[in-house]
Amino acid sequence: MTARRRFITLVPFAGVALLAACSKEVPAPAPAPMPMAEPTPAPVQMAPPAAADASTPTTAGAPTAELPLLQTSDPTAVALGYIEVANQVDGSKFQTYAAGQACNNCQLFGGYAGDEKGPCPLFAGKAVLAAGWCSGYVKKA
Ligand code: SF4
Repeated sequence: MTARRRFITLVPFAGVALLAACSKEVPAPAPAPMPMAEPTPAPVQMAPPAAADASTPTTAGAPTAELPLLQTSDPTAVALGYIEVANQVDGSKFQTYAAGQACNNCQLFGGYAGDEKGPCPLFAGKAVLAAGWCSGYVKKA
């Protein structure tokens, strides 16, 4: 048998063998390794917001405990109708007064929340009572 005949005889068997080899089930590729998770930073502990407390003045300007108490006889107090107890305001004389108004809820009151008295820019150098009132009252925003 010549080499050529031998080659032609073997080609079909070689083809079948090649097909058999290629048709074998190829194992599924291994799953890709999971990427390493990035370490997450620890949560930052935030300081709780400062609650509004009595240490916060109701308006700019620190209250001064040493201020002398405004007297109702003070000329400016008389002119503005200052009174030490707001609910005793003469409504016929001061028609801008409304029930509930008092220095402690006036925008100009410079005392701390809960203070019995505090400064007021309308009466420089004097303290007004938190329960007081005058015609300069401005509702706190
Ligand atoms: Fe009190 Fe009048 Fe001063 Fe307001 S303006 S804090 S009501 S004294």
